[in-house]
Amino acid sequence: MGIFTILKQGGDNRPIGFLRRYNILPFAAMILILAVLSAHNYFTQKNVLLQQLQTDNINLVHSFHAALTRFETIRKAVNLQTLVKNISLGLEIFEFRYLDRNGIIINSMFQDEIGHTFDRPGFKEALQKPEVLGRFYTDNRDMTPVLAISYPVYANDELVGIIDLAVDISDLNYMQEKLRTAAIRHMQRDVRNLLKAIAGSITTSLAVYDTLDYYEFLRNFTDSSKNLRQISIVAPDGTIRLSSDFLLVNSSADIDTSAKSFNGIFMYEHGQPVYRITAPLTTRDQGDAPPQTLLMLVDATEYANNNHTLLMTAMATTLAGIVFAVLIAYSIYRVNLESMKQDRDRLEREVEARTEEIKKLSNTDPLTGLSSRRYLEEQMGVEFKRAIRYNHSLSMLMVDLDHFKKINDTLGHLAGDKVLSEVGRRLAKAVRETDFIGRYGGEEFVVILPETHASDAAQIAEKMRELIAERPVFFEGRPINVTASIGVAELSSSMTNYEEVFQGADQALYISKESGRNRITCFNPAQHKRPA
Ligand code: GH3
Ligand code: MG
Ligand code: MG
Repeated sequence: MGIFTILKQGGDNRPIGFLRRYNILPFAAMILILAVLSAHNYFTQKNVLLQQLQTDNINLVHSFHAALTRFETIRKAVNLQTLVKNISLGLEIFEFRYLDRNGIIINSMFQDEIGHTFDRPGFKEALQKPEVLGRFYTDNRDMTPVLAISYPVYANDELVGIIDLAVDISDLNYMQEKLRTAAIRHMQRDVRNLLKAIAGSITTSLAVYDTLDYYEFLRNFTDSSKNLRQISIVAPDGTIRLSSDFLLVNSSADIDTSAKSFNGIFMYEHGQPVYRITAPLTTRDQGDAPPQTLLMLVDATEYANNNHTLLMTAMATTLAGIVFAVLIAYSIYRVNLESMKQDRDRLEREVEARTEEIKKLSNTDPLTGLSSRRYLEEQMGVEFKRAIRYNHSLSMLMVDLDHFKKINDTLGHLAGDKVLSEVGRRLAKAVRETDFIGRYGGEEFVVILPETHASDAAQIAEKMRELIAERPVFFEGRPINVTASIGVAELSSSMTNYEEVFQGADQALYISKESGRNRITCFNPAQHKRPA
């Protein structure tokens, strides 16, 4: 559900108005910032994970290098040691070591010098002069006379190593010169045979890689390394030479073998998350040959899972933010809607009360508190219709104070007002609850008497006249005598509107005035028109 849908649901309201009023922009900005922060956080952490994965695997490559060197050293050492033992032909071998062509000791009867550079004085120079290599010479080593030789080992016409051998000849010292020379010659032949055998063995072992041995080694390394799935060694031409997975040997690796450094890539292989590593693999024996490439597949399930968790967390954070923002927006909207409703209700009530007040004011005469002319006429209309419809009687009185102008003129307007309100009060006393009494204007009062015949109306009129005349009205302690003339009229069958009843009462009033005031007169329809 989008925010706009929610906003629209609010009821009578125009979401656009809401947006304009509360400005949705801050909420949109909040959501956007949250999303950007979450995304940034996700990518940063993902990167950290990837770097961690890479570091771990660079270490793995290093440890593989070390393991491979150790493996190859041991392999050669074992081979040569056995060989020397088997075919030493009973020679008193004083020193034996095999060096690579750079002078590093690959194998020796002195175990602790293996791996070091051979540093006998003069050996380095001898390496530079191939003619010196392969020649017997006598020497003194540790006070012992020896027959020694530095014997070059070639593979494919290329120098790959040197066998350094010394045979103890101290026994020959006691021989006669001739015998001794013959014995040494004999010995030289034996040593040469031995050297040939060793060299042959070395070149053979160099030429024929023992693929099975390597398979075992790679398998063991793979099994003992956590998460490592597969390890292969790829020739410069891209074919897999050796592998922990025997079936892959001689197939194409489909990688870039010219890369000069570590390369790691996260990918899916057969639906499984893996980290594929390629790195140049340099071995001690390779010389100037192009390096082979190490290819490793590491299980990256953990990385993929962490990545997934990170992504989910980022998405959940963003989603929670959005929900939060929407809820805030919505509740602000609701609160406002509520207060808008309350405002409107209050306004409506106020208007209603004010209207009522105004109506009451317009229906009431302010001086006397009796009905106003407007209200009297309205009621007259209503009562006229009712009387016609139900065939009821209806009478009306018109009351006019006598010589009222004089009171105003002699005692002042305020005195006149006092008289008007007092007269109003006295008149009100004489009417029934169902009657209407009001001030029609100036000093004229009108009384509407529903369901009343002229005879009863006349009685009421008479009572009113008496109530006015019987005692004076006091104004500032001074008595004012007041009288009133009254006209009475009853609704007759010939009348078609209420104004005619009015006219009747008015005419009767006129007659009361004419005939001396302070009296009542009933309208006689027979007379019909008031004399001019
Ligand atoms: P008549 O006996 O013929 O009715 O004589 P009258 O003086 O009463 O009649 P007229 O119509 O000549 O005078 C009415 C006077 O009432 C005129 C006016 O000044 C006065 N009047 C009208 N309304 C008011 C009011 O509200 N207050 C006061 N004090 N006087 C009013
Ligand atoms: Mg008058
Ligand atoms: Mg008058």
